Amino acid sequence: MGLPKLGGWAGKILRVNLENRKISTEDTVKYARDFLGGRALNSFLLLNELAPETRSSDPENMLIFGVGCLVGTLAPGACRVSIDTKSPYNEGKGSANFGGHFGAELKFAGFDHVVITGKSPEPVYLWVQDGKAEIRSAASLWGKTTGETEAGLREELGDPRIQVASIGPAGERGVRGSIIFTTPGKAAAGSGVGWVMGNKKLKAIAARGRGEIRAADPKGFMAAVDRSLQKIKASPYAEGWRKGIIEAKFLPESPVWDFFASVRNGQDEFWPMEKRINLTGLERGVPRYKKRMMSCLACPVGCIPFSKIDEGRYKGTRGAGYWINSATYSTKLDLDQAEASLRFHLLMNELGLDGDMCSTSLAWAFECFEKGLLTPADCGGLGLRWGDAEAILAMQQKLAYREGIGDFLGDGVKESARKLGKGSEFWASQMKGQDSVDPYRAGKGWGFGCAISPVGGRHLRGAVSAPSVTGPKNLAWAPTRYENIPEAVFWQSQTKEIEDLAGFCIFVGTWSGAHALEVSDYVDLISSSTGLALTEEELMKVARRGLNLEKAFNTLHAGFDRGDDYPPPRFMEEEIRSGPYAGAKCEKEKWDKMLDRFYELNGWDRQTGWPTRKGMEELGLGEIAERLDRVGRLK
Ligand code: SF4
Repeated sequence: MGLPKLGGWAGKILRVNLENRKISTEDTVKYARDFLGGRALNSFLLLNELAPETRSSDPENMLIFGVGCLVGTLAPGACRVSIDTKSPYNEGKGSANFGGHFGAELKFAGFDHVVITGKSPEPVYLWVQDGKAEIRSAASLWGKTTGETEAGLREELGDPRIQVASIGPAGERGVRGSIIFTTPGKAAAGSGVGWVMGNKKLKAIAARGRGEIRAADPKGFMAAVDRSLQKIKASPYAEGWRKGIIEAKFLPESPVWDFFASVRNGQDEFWPMEKRINLTGLERGVPRYKKRMMSCLACPVGCIPFSKIDEGRYKGTRGAGYWINSATYSTKLDLDQAEASLRFHLLMNELGLDGDMCSTSLAWAFECFEKGLLTPADCGGLGLRWGDAEAILAMQQKLAYREGIGDFLGDGVKESARKLGKGSEFWASQMKGQDSVDPYRAGKGWGFGCAISPVGGRHLRGAVSAPSVTGPKNLAWAPTRYENIPEAVFWQSQTKEIEDLAGFCIFVGTWSGAHALEVSDYVDLISSSTGLALTEEELMKVARRGLNLEKAFNTLHAGFDRGDDYPPPRFMEEEIRSGPYAGAKCEKEKWDKMLDRFYELNGWDRQTGWPTRKGMEELGLGEIAERLDRVGRLK
């Protein structure tokens, strides 16, 4: 029987083995109905094809670029690519995501997903163009920053419109917190995806395509696009993001600051007003250096600031991007010099470093220095004093190139603390083995969402900040209270899965206070584009299927259980020292109740946190349930 004709997809999955140089393709459509695309389909391929005994460093490990099923169409904000692998942090599910223009270009070139296996003996890049793929030498690119790599490839291939996803020096040198970067200013950060790419000696993927993506129901699709654009246009949140995320939500007087700062390696969660003014104030702070706004493809918002420093010590610093997270990198190190903070963030992208990992690992080292466990002799002569911009920037370079103390820190904070010992494990902020920069104690929905994240301590899964911005409508919850947090996080984790499988940016979707795109809009856009007549309930079910694939992967490959869903010990034992939430911490009893409820909503076992046969079978994942049962990890 022939495969059904569907719209939305480019139609092919590209498979590339860097070891034997075999390149092949298969049809996307056979997976389409069950997983749609992006992260959900990546999760299925990983779980289905990767043996649990395969290590993240083995050639067999898969690195999968999965473009959302609406990317390459006119669906507003549909630009994102999920990159999934087995993570070197914990041998569990690794996943990260970027926007920009790369995903659409890959689809125009004919491919929805690219599955990389094998390890090349020499540095290479993958050139994907109009239905063809070729492995080429990257000898001249190895050692270059991400910006230099993009420019070099465009010159070598003779086309300024080529889109590039690349690693920087950090990924080449095996820093666990390495990103895969694409312009403008977009990093797939987390889970060591750049480490895996570097381990395979794959410097970059360059894509160029002249194909087009057709909608199954062009008229219905364009009507859905128009409705979506009107909603985004009318959304006060989208209007805010357009000015810049900092200007919209993180100016010094914003109440978000009160529950959203991890300060001096998490010793506190409050930063005084004077420092906020220095970092994010319009006159003294980072916004002062903004020159213009940039956008990902097909996005009517354009939230990416392009900044440039024209004078002073950091003159010449320039680049795209600075988010609330970037400010958190600075609070973590008590850095309130805006120019240095901007430089610190922009260099992450150039060096190919994950800002969460870099700032968390550095903050741990600074606290070790404060407590006398590290000395200048250990740190190449540097004194690691909170807020010292020169020391912070010098340490960033050492980490990216794994030089001296940077080599010691290069495997992440859990490993650094294990090596140093002396009680430093207590202030190593990590979840499931991965560095975690986020605050956990004041914002309950944020902390809980980070803790239950399958990829370990990351907020871009189920974390909810405030009901006016995130979480479902018609649910009573508050950022700093425990009530209904499991329900809000459960909803957010499903909607984020939808956004990742379709390729929507969360800023035009469920992080716009449900004033912009909602699940009903996603249903309209996906159904009319693909031709699969989905209901809201069915789409949520596909999302839960994706989430359960990740749960099964982590249970089988990493052995995670309930114990891995509690915050780092410091946040459960030490109270916030100052500010409006002084005295707050993560209370074990309350956390237990939240986990019980969250597992119940997901259909997981309360005691172990493992999947259940009933839950898996309801989602059509009976075969995977059998695999879990065979190793005794199913309830
Ligand atoms: S809202 Fe910002 S990050 Fe999201 S797609 Fe638009 S420009 Fe990109």
